Amino acid sequence: MLALEVDNLRKTYSNGVEALKGASLGVEEGDFFALLGPNGAGKSTMIGIISSLVNATGGDVRVFGASVRKQRSLAMSYLGLVPQELNFNQFEKPLEIVVNQAGFYGIPKRIAAERGEHYLKKLQLWDKHDKPSRMLSGGMKRRLMIARAMVNQPRLLILDEPTAGVDIEIRRSMWELVEEINAAGTTVILTTHYLEEAEQLCRNIAIINHGQIVENTSMRELLGKL
Ligand code: ADP
Ligand code: ADP
Repeated sequence: MLALEVDNLRKTYSNGVEALKGASLGVEEGDFFALLGPNGAGKSTMIGIISSLVNATGGDVRVFGASVRKQRSLAMSYLGLVPQELNFNQFEKPLEIVVNQAGFYGIPKRIAAERGEHYLKKLQLWDKHDKPSRMLSGGMKRRLMIARAMVNQPRLLILDEPTAGVDIEIRRSMWELVEEINAAGTTVILTTHYLEEAEQLCRNIAIINHGQIVENTSMRELLGKL
């Protein structure tokens, strides 16, 4: 089964920029997949459309078979997103942030509280669960973003440039964490503009440039060509 199908996706912004020009790719269930491309290639636009924050101009996306255009809430129920920027309210506490996200998915309060505790413990944030999140370190804030994305137990976790501006120690511990999530059965996609990062982690890769997929292959094959 495909975790993600991107089919002839097009996006033209209202300023005329063609961010996606008919991009297609497929990601198998269980994969650890990289979407690699330089700044401005269209990665965030594609992630925006997959997570239904941005409307496509043409084409469609299916998450475990559910169309983001026609079956939006089903598609979203399969998805966890870790966006590039820290976008939680820094005055809220980690447990609040994770539990509120669960509410967004219609998860009952009691279960939300249990899962919040589970993921905050797993991400070593439990001793801070009741402190304003602005008091967390940079690495803790990143982990909080992952905890929040995991609360609906997504079948597909997407991380948009997760280590941008993150120092090497934190980067390593984040990778271990995401590898663990993948090993437990969650399909993982990350975007990056570093081949090195993709190379260390991912089994399959798509390369995007100027809004088009220029390569979609296994990491091993790609490295063989370089
Ligand atoms: P849409 O075509 O999806 O309605 P818009 O073109 O209206 O999107 O832009 C949405 C928002 O993104 C606006 O607030 C706009 O100022 C901002 N924006 C414009 N250009 C860029 C850019 N190059 N990168 C990021 N954001 C941009
Ligand atoms: P990447 O994530 O690979 O850096 P983006 O998807 O952010 O690429 O951007 C692709 C192109 O679309 C760029 O030329 C960017 O300036 C433009 N763009 C992104 N968001 C907007 C927006 N909201 N409005 C107008 N142009 C945008």
